[in-house]
Amino acid sequence: VYILAIESSCDETAAAVVKNGREILSNVISSQIDLHTLYGGVVPEIASRKHIEKINQVIESALLESGLTLENMDAIGVTYGPGLVGALLVGVAEAKAMAYAANKPLVGVHHIEGHVSANFIEHPDLEPPFMCLIVSGGHTHLVIVRDYGEFEILGRTRDDAAGEAFDKVARAVGLGYPGGPKVDKAAKEGNPQAIKFPRAKVDGNRYDFSFSGLKSAVLNHINHANMMGEEINVPDLLASFQNAVVDVLVSHTVDAAKEYGFKKVAIAGGVASNSALRKGMKEACEKNGITFYYPSPIYCTDNAAMIGTAAYYEFINGARADWDLNAVPNLKLGER
Ligand code: ATP
Ligand code: MG
Ligand code: FE
Repeated sequence: VYILAIESSCDETAAAVVKNGREILSNVISSQIDLHTLYGGVVPEIASRKHIEKINQVIESALLESGLTLENMDAIGVTYGPGLVGALLVGVAEAKAMAYAANKPLVGVHHIEGHVSANFIEHPDLEPPFMCLIVSGGHTHLVIVRDYGEFEILGRTRDDAAGEAFDKVARAVGLGYPGGPKVDKAAKEGNPQAIKFPRAKVDGNRYDFSFSGLKSAVLNHINHANMMGEEINVPDLLASFQNAVVDVLVSHTVDAAKEYGFKKVAIAGGVASNSALRKGMKEACEKNGITFYYPSPIYCTDNAAMIGTAAYYEFINGARADWDLNAVPNLKLGER
């Protein structure tokens, strides 16, 4: 089964050809990061325009690199939510037009299901059920992946997403957008124990997350130092912040895996490429006899290969989108 997958939910225009769900024949990504860096974040209107400009050539390259043609495809998969509505619409309209013209089935894919599915690409042995921590620019969810496309949410963030916290703290110390990778790099030179930042406590669900308090603590630390005319050790600050985030992410995930009796843990989303998170999760899993799965960085941030993998499992389970498939900017995990 060959799937042509299209992803345009945020600031990456991407297309991929995926064979039988787990074999990536091509994975083309055109990133707009340089453009949005000028504004310190993603500008939705610019993102939509850029997607329109790039999408045809990205799809053409993906088909060309796969050595196949549109005729060879069994279905077209496309991200229809969540994300920026104007950005999503470009991919959805393109996928519908191609599917209609070539008389191919159309499959709508949930972007976050795509992030989770990135784990299947490089781990042929990984199959549901397993525990998965989803940490991206807009989401922080701890879920049980019951089956392909079937999620039980154990915990979620009450405020900022993990990636959002990284981006905001990066901005506060003058690192540009996107901040996550820059914080990761700078923190390598710092001492993670230098500053004791609070570990977020939330009432109620013990698997929920909260990062706004930590973000405020970091900003207060900076303001206080500025007021006192003290110099800030930026690497120490970032390493300590990152340590606080990773601590909570790892402990929630491993606690849940133990409580629910899972011996397999995966991570997904842009923040899953964070080196401290990978290291912390690996150590905690090893200590508890849990096998830890994580995608290569290229499959952590937005890409179409992961969308093709998710589309494959939706497709073989009989999912077909109608010609009225629309972009759903606030699509929830587990909804269709
Ligand atoms: P969503 O998937 O929730 O709709 P998104 O698609 O914008 O949001 P992703 O592309 O999955 O998010 O991830 C981007 C986020 O990952 C950004 O917030 C970025 O700062 C963060 N990120 C990327 N690399 C790292 C890293 N090495 N360390 C920490 N954060 C990182
Ligand atoms: Mg992006
Ligand atoms: Fe994403």
